[in-house]
Amino acid sequence: MSKIILTGDRPTGKLHLGHYVGSLKRRVELQNSGEYDKIFIMIADAQALTDNADNPEKIRQNIIEVALDYLSCGLDPAKSTLFIQSQIQELTELSFYYMNLVTLSRLERNPTVKTEIKMRNFETSIPVGFLTYPISQAADITAFKATTVPVGEDQLPMIEQCREIVRRFNFIYGDTLVEPEALIPQNEVCCRLPGTDGKAKMSKSLGNCIYLSDSADEVRTKIMSMFTDPNHLKITDPGSLEGNAVFTYLDAFCRDEHFERFLPEYANLDELKGHYQRGGLGDVKVKKFLNAIVQEELEPIRARRKELEKQIPEIYDILKKGSEVARAAAADTMSEVKAAMKINYFDDAALIAEQAARFAEKSE
Ligand code: ATP
Ligand code: MG
Repeated sequence: MSKIILTGDRPTGKLHLGHYVGSLKRRVELQNSGEYDKIFIMIADAQALTDNADNPEKIRQNIIEVALDYLSCGLDPAKSTLFIQSQIQELTELSFYYMNLVTLSRLERNPTVKTEIKMRNFETSIPVGFLTYPISQAADITAFKATTVPVGEDQLPMIEQCREIVRRFNFIYGDTLVEPEALIPQNEVCCRLPGTDGKAKMSKSLGNCIYLSDSADEVRTKIMSMFTDPNHLKITDPGSLEGNAVFTYLDAFCRDEHFERFLPEYANLDELKGHYQRGGLGDVKVKKFLNAIVQEELEPIRARRKELEKQIPEIYDILKKGSEVARAAAADTMSEVKAAMKINYFDDAALIAEQAARFAEKSE
């Protein structure tokens, strides 16, 4: 069986460090590993509209931002198909049929959607499209027969929902769809990077992000004002690592070689943590160290983005061509789905012949 990747992001803002460690960096590695037959990377504008229906301009403006972030991180249109979700009508068509395979109570149980509904204060006015977005996500994944979906941890319930739809579809209509596997980061802290404010998740909607496109100054300012241990008031006080976002980011980004270059008094992160916990190590010093590491990681991305920003029409062309390729792949799956569901009337010569014979017999 072919190895196929499908993954993507909502164009609700620029991409941030959470996206980078949770999914984007891995995608680029997988792309360059040569182990995958096809890679589809989707800008999920239709999904973004499920909770931004009244703000289409925001989605429209952010498509190019996400595309710039993709390309500056190293996604390569020669190796990966970059496309825009709304341009693939088969995805909407598939979603409509998958809706018959999922119950309302199953959708309401989805823990990620539950949290997101709370976050957005929808209360009783939840848009139906928002509640059903896991179904549309199943359509996105299965349309490309994806075997692998590299995502952050918050997406695990969506992949589980997708697998259930695949099993139910194949059970009723015969083997057609492929069950995907989620690929979450190996490093646990990267599964859900907290915000600079220490909140559970860095998220565009929470405004607690360091963006890949932030200037060096913006990154420094954000890191220097990050949430640490609120009880660590004096340098001599013992500090806690629990919920301390600066140390969580170090867990995500720091390697031993960073100490040699930026903080040679310590051999590794364990030593630094030990000192912080004993007391005698100030937040500023740790934040400066984190800043050096993050700046080094972001600098080449920022530089590539600057160049790419001069090529906006060419980038739209990449997305247009990618959408054509994606459309053809989704159309192939759609024909198989229609045949399996017996809604391919005009292609079904046997059906027409059998009915013709039956009616002829009746009129004899
Ligand atoms: P929104 O607030 O609009 O939902 P978001 O910041 O949650 O935006 P998405 O576009 O929903 O971003 O997520 C895209 C991908 O990035 C998903 O695979 C998701 O799991 C991953 N991701 C998002 N935020 C984080 C994070 N803080 N840590 C790790 N992975 C993340
Ligand atoms: Mg999200």
